[in-house]
Amino acid sequence: MSTIAENIAKVGARIREAAQASERDCATIGLLAVSKTKPATAIRQAHAAGLQDFGENYLQEALEKQLELSDLPLIWHFIGPIQSNKTRPIAEHFDWVHSVDRLKVAERLSAQRPAQLPALNICLQVNVSGEASKSGCSPEQLPALALAVTQLPNLKLRGLMTIPEPSDDRATQQAAFARLAELQAHLNLDLDTLSMGMSHDLEAAIAEGATWVRIGTALFGERDYS
Ligand SMILES: *Cc1c(COP(=O)(O)O)cnc(C)c1O
Repeated sequence: MSTIAENIAKVGARIREAAQASERDCATIGLLAVSKTKPATAIRQAHAAGLQDFGENYLQEALEKQLELSDLPLIWHFIGPIQSNKTRPIAEHFDWVHSVDRLKVAERLSAQRPAQLPALNICLQVNVSGEASKSGCSPEQLPALALAVTQLPNLKLRGLMTIPEPSDDRATQQAAFARLAELQAHLNLDLDTLSMGMSHDLEAAIAEGATWVRIGTALFGERDYS
């Protein structure tokens, strides 16, 4: 077994245990492998070991890997900050975008989504910890943004995403994820996705209803940069 296959097995076991602890069906929790900074060969190994969904943060790097891996039936998720002048390749080359935080970006993604492709799956990124440096819309901006995005023809609003302030305290982790779940419930839209939880806090996220956990380090090892 490759190290990556072993890591996938370990993360899978963590997900199953966390699901069991909160009496959730683990089939409702997707494992999104975050492959930023990692080579195409690592993605190939992860796919051989059973993964299909991959998350990338840097557009140019993602496009190069997609080209190298075009023989595989992979599902690509864009999860990084989006510059509004870079939306076209995202609209053309991804299946999901988890990091939409303003209407201008959503409008451009909808307008630039190729007609032959299905609607682009969207999560709105919300800043639940209130840190000035992090991307994401504020909880106050969310309802109007969500409603506007549901009106865009080539997008399908699936749910919310967050990257909370890092914490080792389980209660603090869980409070941030609970906040996202609560914001989603209050929108009263037909949404099925909560993208939350990373290598160090996936258990807390699953306890609060995560449907995608975005896992990099625990699958592929430490990153050399970013
Ligand atoms: C890098 C990254 C992850 C993965 O983080 P790990 O701690 O390595 O699991 C998840 N989500 C986003 C948005 C990221 O940028």
